[in-house]
Amino acid sequence: MARIGFIGLGIMGSHMAANLVRAGHEVTGYDVVPASVDKLLQAGGKPAPDIASAVSGAEVIITMLPDSPQVAEVALGPGGVLESAAPGVLLADMSSIAPETSLAVAAAGAERGVRVLDAPVSGGEQGAIKASLSIMVGGAAEDFEAAKPIFEDLGRTIVHVGGHGAGQTVKAANQLMVAGIIALVSEAIVLLEASDVDGERGLEVLAGGLAGSRILDLKSASMLARQFEPGFRIDLHHKDMGIALSSARAAGVSLPVTGVVAQLVAAARATGHGSDDHSALLSVIESLSGR
Ligand code: NAD
Repeated sequence: MARIGFIGLGIMGSHMAANLVRAGHEVTGYDVVPASVDKLLQAGGKPAPDIASAVSGAEVIITMLPDSPQVAEVALGPGGVLESAAPGVLLADMSSIAPETSLAVAAAGAERGVRVLDAPVSGGEQGAIKASLSIMVGGAAEDFEAAKPIFEDLGRTIVHVGGHGAGQTVKAANQLMVAGIIALVSEAIVLLEASDVDGERGLEVLAGGLAGSRILDLKSASMLARQFEPGFRIDLHHKDMGIALSSARAAGVSLPVTGVVAQLVAAARATGHGSDDHSALLSVIESLSGR
């Protein structure tokens, strides 16, 4: 069992940290929001008043933060992880961020003897609760092997996808697919309802055929009921579509469908759905038809 410092105890991090406690690890956690740290205490972890206290004595540090600026600040900033982490410690950033930020953190870690992995996840809050996440890992193979037993307490599908930043590129590919599928499920709902076909029955039969998908399984009931409690916030998916498009530009490729879907996500955000679940894309697609 490992001594783990866990930074970022939000929708995902709170459940992931609780699963690590349940698996027998000693977890010390920090979040800027004190109520989130209290949740870890209730789950059997130890609260830390700042990053240095969460990192002190830890063998492994996990960060689960919203976006690149927060990861850069927490890892590289004054009073941050790299300032307090002992050489040999392993830092696994499980946030979804820009690959170039993962590369910068890995380079700064290497200078201090801290081993760094980018290890973003997919599977949503339910995947975090059930420890069934998909974890896509970039970094050195030996560091991946060292961290794998801990990842196995958080997820089911755990794959080393390449060097530093590769985990984030795979996550960007995941996010463009998820947003695209939600957009198409939304279009299916609009068509069915506008044609007076029962949406629930329509989606039920679609789920059993080639159009079936995890998103249809998990989200069709809440989408049909227009319940958009997050889950995964539109604001975060907007961030991820930006990462997908800037990664495409860096790689010199064209992703036309992703471009359109990114604009739908931007419209959802601009029309007040930023804090709603990403399935609120349905509202934007309905409004295009005046519904
Ligand atoms: P969240 O906003 O609920 O959690 C982030 C946490 O980080 C918050 O508790 C916040 O207070 C904390 N935080 C922010 N700045 C901090 C700092 N400087 N120091 C310490 N703590 C700080 O977000 P989330 O939904 O848990 O997502 C976290 C990451 O995981 C994001 O990158 C997101 O894109 C990704 N992700 C989310 C989901 C999902 O379904 N929610 C699924 C897969 C991946």
